[in-house]
Amino acid sequence: MPLLMLAWGALVAFEGALDSFEHQESISREALFPLAEVEGELLELSGLAIHAQPTHGMTLRNYRRKKLVIKSQLVLLLDYFQGQSTELSAVQEIQRQWREIAQLCQQIFDATEAQQEAKLAKAKTQLSQQLQKILNNTQELNYRLIAFQNEANVEHAKAVRAQVRRLVAIISLFALVLAGLFAFSLSRSITVPLRTLAQGVEQLGQGALDHRITLTTQDEFSHLADTFNLMASQLEQSQQDLYRLATLDGLTEVYNRREFNRWLMVEIERSQRNPHPVSLIMVDIDHFKALNDTYGHQAGDLALCEVAQLLQREVRPGDIVCRYGGEEFAVILPKATMTDSQAVAERVRLAIVEQPVILPSLEPIEMTASLGVATYPDHADTKEHLSKQADQALYTAKHLGRNRVQSAQQNDGVASQATI
Ligand code: GH3
Ligand code: MG
Ligand code: MG
Repeated sequence: MPLLMLAWGALVAFEGALDSFEHQESISREALFPLAEVEGELLELSGLAIHAQPTHGMTLRNYRRKKLVIKSQLVLLLDYFQGQSTELSAVQEIQRQWREIAQLCQQIFDATEAQQEAKLAKAKTQLSQQLQKILNNTQELNYRLIAFQNEANVEHAKAVRAQVRRLVAIISLFALVLAGLFAFSLSRSITVPLRTLAQGVEQLGQGALDHRITLTTQDEFSHLADTFNLMASQLEQSQQDLYRLATLDGLTEVYNRREFNRWLMVEIERSQRNPHPVSLIMVDIDHFKALNDTYGHQAGDLALCEVAQLLQREVRPGDIVCRYGGEEFAVILPKATMTDSQAVAERVRLAIVEQPVILPSLEPIEMTASLGVATYPDHADTKEHLSKQADQALYTAKHLGRNRVQSAQQNDGVASQATI
């Protein structure tokens, strides 16, 4: 772009210089040449005045032709100098003098015929004087025109120089602005994606694995952003896998024992900050060893998975189902009173009884479970104590004949319900 502008500026400057020549050529063509022609014709006429011979061999026809030429050139000069008072009055003076000279010339031609020597000599003397005057005037006009032409050329050259300087200044300014804009956009096209990438890496470093980078460009940066996003997705997936491995039981996919401990602590602490009950139900499948022995371990595993799913179905979404160990499950019920949790436990017990596990061989396995229920802070003041209370209630339920719900407050040996 700056190069184009430079070329355009050079063209304008060149045009300006050419203008100067054209102007010079117009003065020469339309003023100096006609003036020179008039001068030339007048000089030739001087022969009429100098020589003794009446017309110095110049025929009247020849004279008339010169007369016509001078007249027409003077008309051209008058036209050319319209509006230029000094030059116009100089040409008008020359024209006036020419008319006198023409009269004298005519007298000389006429005198020749009339053989009037004295009159002829006088006319020649007058002609000589008039020619001298008119030639002085034409020369003076000539000098003035040349001087004017030079002056005009100098003025024009100055104007062209000023114009070229202005143009160079404007082009330089434009080039600077363009270069600045280009540099700015170039730096932005680098710094903006770099900053976005750096922010993305920072976010990822702070653990925001779901952060993704969006770049609108289609260059190496967008390729880098794609690679970053892929890496973040893989990290996020790995983290999710690790989280599942660390928190869920591998067989039943409910929370493991470690998560049970953590959740119980979280809920107890929450209830301490904002008082509300937290209930715990311990579930133990009855005679599970016998089930394993009868149907095999795979059937036992299937039964464990079925019970885990059943527990998740039967409790509220906010309740936390965990595998406590072996064939034992624990359910933490935030904000559930003893009565609420007893009802839930009973619902679970019934569901286990009513929904036998169907083996791949389509053989149904009927199961029962014993459940112990305890509530914080009614039966315990710590999470360890709460676990112990629920466990003891479960132990009581087993002793009372299994397939029943036993609450911690009923540790006196009275079963809440027994269906078998
Ligand atoms: P009770 O009615 O007194 O609870 O009797 P039980 O047989 O259920 O209890 P016990 O503690 O004697 O047996 C528990 C059995 O659970 C023993 C163990 O082989 C089995 N078990 C523990 N974990 C798993 C498991 O992941 N898969 C299978 N298939 N069996 C398991
Ligand atoms: Mg058992
Ligand atoms: Mg057990």
